[in-house]
Amino acid sequence: MHFLRNLIILFLICIAIKINLCVPTIPSSLKTLPIDGHFDFKQVHHAAKDFGNRYSFLPSAVLHPKSASDIATTVKHIWEMGPGSHLTVAARGHGHSLQGQAQAHRGVVINMESLQGPKMKVHTGNFPYVDVSGSELWINILHETLKHGLAPKSWTDYLHLTVGGTLSNAGISGQAFRHGPQISNVRQLEVVTGKGEVVNCSEKQNSDLFYSVLGGLGQFGIITRARISLEPAPKMVKWIRVLYTDFATFAKDQEMLISGESTFDYIEGFVIINRTGLLNNWRSSFNPNDSAQASHFKSDGRTLFCLELAKYFNPEEMAIVNQEIMTSLSQLNHIPSTLFQSQVPYIEFLDRVHISEIKLRSKGLWEVPHPWLNLLIPRSNIHIFAQQVFGNILTNTSNGPILIYPVNKSKWDNRTSVVLPEEDVFYLVAFLSSAAPSSTGSDGLEHILSQNKRILELCEIDGLGVKQYLPHYSTNGEWRSHFGPQWEAFVHRKSTYDPLAILAPGQRIFQKAAPLSL
Ligand code: FAD
Repeated sequence: MHFLRNLIILFLICIAIKINLCVPTIPSSLKTLPIDGHFDFKQVHHAAKDFGNRYSFLPSAVLHPKSASDIATTVKHIWEMGPGSHLTVAARGHGHSLQGQAQAHRGVVINMESLQGPKMKVHTGNFPYVDVSGSELWINILHETLKHGLAPKSWTDYLHLTVGGTLSNAGISGQAFRHGPQISNVRQLEVVTGKGEVVNCSEKQNSDLFYSVLGGLGQFGIITRARISLEPAPKMVKWIRVLYTDFATFAKDQEMLISGESTFDYIEGFVIINRTGLLNNWRSSFNPNDSAQASHFKSDGRTLFCLELAKYFNPEEMAIVNQEIMTSLSQLNHIPSTLFQSQVPYIEFLDRVHISEIKLRSKGLWEVPHPWLNLLIPRSNIHIFAQQVFGNILTNTSNGPILIYPVNKSKWDNRTSVVLPEEDVFYLVAFLSSAAPSSTGSDGLEHILSQNKRILELCEIDGLGVKQYLPHYSTNGEWRSHFGPQWEAFVHRKSTYDPLAILAPGQRIFQKAAPLSL
């Protein structure tokens, strides 16, 4: 009897310990940490929201750091608490994640926007660069570098994203075919590791940490500073769109353009399914000055593929640039009557999505659920993919743009953590859907999610060798298969730089644990 009672007590103690271990509690010691910034334990709700508007995990505290040392002190403190605390840490850039990647359930979210590092500094010369905070928005970098007639080489389509946020993924846009993604254009980083150490890294110094962090989904360290390569900035941009009805011709022209050196400076494309009316209204920031013939072109419900091109220039080069454009366009096989042209200042071109954001915000359509799906598809399978998806699965594109364009893998560094398809050329296909709140129709969240599921199933069943960009998975098996042969190296890097798995809990790749080993 006595024995049984002791056994029950022991059992209850075990349960209590287990519960205590699994539910992180915020230790009062955080409140007494010697930092210049501050913790907020009450106003934490904004840190449980992101652009995707579908996942919400409430943190226990939000750190508003003033310096990299505030971040290091906090992470080190949590590291020293050991695996028993279950406390995790997520860096939140500008909150533009889609599935809670920058959130930390009952953990600590670091509001990177509070970081006040040294001022942004532009270095001119033969190999210009800019030193920035990891929390800096790309739009601010553009404004600052333009004062020196310079600009970064590689962009995202939208610039109100942070350096740390895009470098944790890749940072892809229409310049990537030539310059590679943003992670190919960084020279140096300052990083706070999962042990709370502040480390400078580059190709020459602590190079394994440098390449781990680039495309590393925030798993190995928090980027507090970055050195970004610059190039002379043009003043103007010729912005061009041409249309195709045949996917094979469209893709052939795109691939021909990205293989040439002196064609265009930006090459993207998008799909238009089941739309009627005039083309000019389809993407609001593009305002072409067209021939009467082009502006009267109607889609009549056909599936169309729009090649989008840009050529940078300075006003004095206008004549020669026009000539070059004519030559390049003469090699394309688009529908002849569909040449839409516009000429805009460089800054307006790069910040084009912000114009759409302002319009959508004014209609209350920005803060809706965004069930986006971003895929990287090997060139050899893009035709099967296009045929199945644009021919069968999608019946219209009115829920948001579908971008599609190829990039050259040779411009990506295979030492980074990013996961890519195996071929030399692969396509980014981005389904950028917005769901109408509380709709049960084809513009509703459920419908769009089931379409995404069908697309992913198609990739799986047909073995298309597709990789997700901005990946999101729920199980360890899915993550392993995403990383494929890179999984072991990824785990090894984790065990080196964040052995307790304190960082980036929102990615749900690792759980806070006793030190990891292979
Ligand atoms: P967050 O969403 O806050 O963070 C993203 C991830 O990085 C999280 O895991 C977070 O913990 C981690 N993180 C944040 N800061 C740091 C840091 N300093 N150090 C280490 N880890 C950190 N992507 C493209 O590549 N190309 C595009 O053209 C493009 N267009 C977009 C357009 C829109 C409208 C939106 C909303 C997103 C777009 N993105 C694009 C995706 C974008 O790259 C991701 O959303 C990314 O998450 C950046 O957002 P953020 O800076 O707010 O970072």
